Amino acid sequence: MELSRRQVDALRGVQRNETAERGAPLKSIATYLRVQPPTALDHLTILEHLGLIERYRGKSRLTPRGRECLVDYLRHHRVAESLFQKAGLDPQETCRAAREIDLALSHKVVERIYEAQGSPAECPHGGAIPAPSSHRSAGSRR
Ligand SMILES: [Zn+2]
Ligand SMILES: [Zn+2]
Repeated sequence: MELSRRQVDALRGVQRNETAERGAPLKSIATYLRVQPPTALDHLTILEHLGLIERYRGKSRLTPRGRECLVDYLRHHRVAESLFQKAGLDPQETCRAAREIDLALSHKVVERIYEAQGSPAECPHGGAIPAPSSHRSAGSRR
């Protein structure tokens, strides 16, 4: 699934603002994205149609598929960060540089970069690099 930067950010906005008890309120997601609520709602509507979130009484929640999508994104991002670290960028810079390319890379290319770097366990910031979705168990659609 190909998502835009804003769509991934909106998905992360839902993740950050939802709790076990309730979904993420539109206002919190808009604040996270630094946009007006109607703009945030446009992103959420698309995510809902893609089956990545569910909306109920104005609150948004990630679906299992939405969660998986974010894990895949994190793998792309952190593998790209470790690539830039190897290229000599400092940790702050690796994050910025990774955001320029993480969404553009195919899963296949990410796996090649990952292996070429000796399969690192963590990104330059100490965040665990999650396993690719194809290696994860049950419920995976890809
Ligand atoms: Zn980062
Ligand atoms: Zn990182």
